[in-house]
Order: sequence, then C-alpha cells, then structure tokens
Amino acid sequence: MPAPTPATPEAAESNPFVQMQRRFDRAAELLELDRGLYRILSTPAQELTLSVPVKMDDGRIRVFEGFRVQHSIARGPAKGGIRYAPDVHLDEVRALAAWMTWKCAVVDVPFGGGKGGVVCDPRRLSHSELERLTRRYTAGLLDLIGPERDVPAPDMNTNDQTMAWIMDTYSVHRRATNTAIVTGKPVGLGGSQGRTEATGLGVAFMVREALAHRGFPDHGARIVVQGSGNVGGWAARFLQEMGHKVVAISDIDTAIHDENGLDVPAVLEWIGAHRTLRGYPGAEVIDNDELLTLPCDVLVPAATENQITSQNAARIQASIIVEGANGPTTAAADQVLEERGVFVVPDILANAGGVTVSYFEWVQDRMGFFWEKDDVFRREERVMVDSFRSIVDAMDRYQASPRIAAYCVAVERVAYCLQLRGIYA
Ligand code: NAD
Repeated sequence: MPAPTPATPEAAESNPFVQMQRRFDRAAELLELDRGLYRILSTPAQELTLSVPVKMDDGRIRVFEGFRVQHSIARGPAKGGIRYAPDVHLDEVRALAAWMTWKCAVVDVPFGGGKGGVVCDPRRLSHSELERLTRRYTAGLLDLIGPERDVPAPDMNTNDQTMAWIMDTYSVHRRATNTAIVTGKPVGLGGSQGRTEATGLGVAFMVREALAHRGFPDHGARIVVQGSGNVGGWAARFLQEMGHKVVAISDIDTAIHDENGLDVPAVLEWIGAHRTLRGYPGAEVIDNDELLTLPCDVLVPAATENQITSQNAARIQASIIVEGANGPTTAAADQVLEERGVFVVPDILANAGGVTVSYFEWVQDRMGFFWEKDDVFRREERVMVDSFRSIVDAMDRYQASPRIAAYCVAVERVAYCLQLRGIYA
C-alpha cells in the first residue's frame, strides 16, 4: 500500500496519510535513511478492513465498516486508539497508526503504532447498539490484537466503557480475564489512575515548556483551545490551574470567547450536563473558524485533523501552537507558520502524555500492582519534559523545525530497531 496520490493539491492537503508521509519524507532525507528501511516505514505492516454486522434495537440489521491498521511493530506491540466517526476512512486510520509509531518512539515507550476505526455516528446509536457494535468489531480483530501484539485504547468517541467491552469480549474468547489487552479502561477493571487526564495534562506540560522556551512568564498566558473533549477539556482545566487564562474554547458546533478568561470548570460542567457547549450562558458566542485566528499567546488545537491549513495559517495570531489533536496542521500550513516564527509543539510530542500513561497502565496490568495518581503524574511529567528537551536539542542538530526534529528522533529510533532485528527472509 504505497502512499495514495490524490488527484488535486486540495485533496492531497486534506489526506492525513499524505500529510504524514510528507513529514516522514523530510526526516528521511535529513537522516539519509537507507532506501530499504524507508520502504518498510512508508508502508503499513498490516491492515484489516472488516464488516461489522449489528442487530439494532428495532430488530433491523446494519453493517458497519471497521478498520485496524498496524503501521509498525518494530519497537514493540502496536499501540493506538479506536475512533468511532461517520467520516473515518482508511487513509486517516493509516496516518493515525503511523503517527502512533512516531509518537511512541518520541517518548521512547516500547510500542509500535496502530489505530482502528469504525464508520458510524455514535450520537445516533443507543448504549446497547454501541455495545453490540464494539463486541462484534472486537471479535473481528481477535487474530490481530493481544497484549503482546496490538493494544487498543480510546480515541474520538470511544471511552473507558468501550475499552471495558473490548476487554471483556477478548477475555471471554481467551477463557481468562486479560486486562492488558486495552488501555484506558475504568480504574476498577485494571485501568491506571490518571489515564483519563493524561493527554490533557501532557498538553499542559508542553504549553508550560514551550512558554518557558520562548521566554514568556509562567502564568497569565492567553490560551485558545479548540475542542473540549477528553484532550481539550483536561488541557484547559490544567492550564487554568497553572494560572493561565483560557480565553476561548469550542466543540464541534459552538465556540465561546471571554477575553478575561473563561471559568473552565463551569464550562466543562455545562458540557457534562448538556452534552454540548451550545447555550452556555457565561460567554460570547463566536464563529468556530474565527476561534483559530483569535489573538492569543497559545493555540491548542485539540479536536481533529486538518484544522490549520494553507487557507488560514497566515491568519493565526498565536505565538505558540501545542497540538493536542493528531494531525491538526497540514504540511503546507507548517511552512507558513515556520516562516512567521510560530513555535509548533507537534502532535507526536504534544499529545504523547496519553500513550505514556497507557504504557504505565499496560505495565501495571502485567505486574498486577497499581500506582497512585501522584506517582503516575510525576512519571508522566518526567517523560514529557525529557522528550521536549530532546526535541529542542534535535532542532539544533538537524537545523529543523520542532516537528521535523521530532520526526527525525522518532524515525532514527525505529530504524535502529529495524536494523537490529534485521530482515527475516
Ligand atoms: P473527544 O471525542 O473526547 O473530543 C473531541 C472534541 O473535538 C469535542 O469537543 C468535539 O465536539 C470536537 N470536535 C470534533 N470534531 C470537530 C471538528 N470538525 N471541528 C471542531 N471541533 C470538533 O476526543 P479526544 O479524545 O479529546 O481527541 C481529540 C483529538 O486528540 C483527536 O485528534 C485524537 O486523536 C487526539 N488524541 C486523543 C488522545 C486521548 O487520550 N484521548 C490521545 C492522543 C491524541
């Protein structure tokens, strides 16, 4: 499966796999990567497309399309979330799987990269339909996943309940409870303390480090957050606790703004109660696109891919971007931002706190011994700060942007393992 060749530049810019590949190509060039290793890492190691039949509550049968892609298992079992979305597609899952390979290598956890997706609109499915969908999808993956093979986790529109269903389905088939098959489980079922908050907390650590690196004071920054789900919501909460002002936040259909700083816990409480930001009384409603170009010190895109593109990059006013989401910035936008001196903490570093604590969860499950939340957060902080510093060093070494420097570090680590393992022929 070589990289797709979309027909137009616009189609290429909106194809996440093409966008991932452009950054990988640049890193491979700087590293003078061996052509054979380049070919291996340009191609997903394994991918499965499956039909997932589900009996709906009204008795009808619907068939959903599902995917699981393992980009690389060179450094360890494939690791990566499962996304439920109406528009999820194979190239997106391929890109997300590759980003997991690079991300695990950036924070140096012993995993490869994988990702899964099911084409569905979870808002239109009942709880029991979601359960049947999840269990049947898991049954279809039984030959692919396993604690030492491929370990799923939550992503957009999946959560700890989804992971509990996957863990149970897998365990029923294996005739033994096996908690290390997924991460992001409920704490009572072998989940880790702090996993829910981990990605947002890691994003907040990266905002803190980027502000210090660029000479800003350690409090009082004006921050805009796109997305108020697991990543955006927790990042906003931690950033406010650190003394910054979250001046705008959004969800898929509403964006709100308050120059004096929003009351983040109140906003999140509203979303928890109403399942939408719409109607929140304490702030001005703005256009969702306008949110990205508001004047601010730090922009945290924490929603989805392709939000900062060649169309709006020149209008971004933030000095620092910390990518909570995977793939929020296109390669064309990277160039514009770099020319304008915007410091971008790339997704494969910025949101790696999630997989770092997923690794801690997998370790705890395999030990059968569980850590306290403070311990989890302290270890996460050390990994994230050390990784930030290693990327800043790599920027000097490769004379590259933070993103390309992060890709260089990651590709070098994965290539090293591939070389050591050799090619089995
Ligand atoms: P989520 O479903 O909890 O929240 C997503 C948020 O983004 C919601 O507020 C939603 O309304 C909003 N949103 C969705 N589509 C949008 C669009 N087109 N425009 C504007 N807003 C939109 O998901 P999440 O777990 O917070 O994940 C968000 C991003 O972070 C994804 O890119 C995901 O891959 C990435 N990520 C998540 C984790 C994790 O641990 N959850 C870890 C690493 C990376």
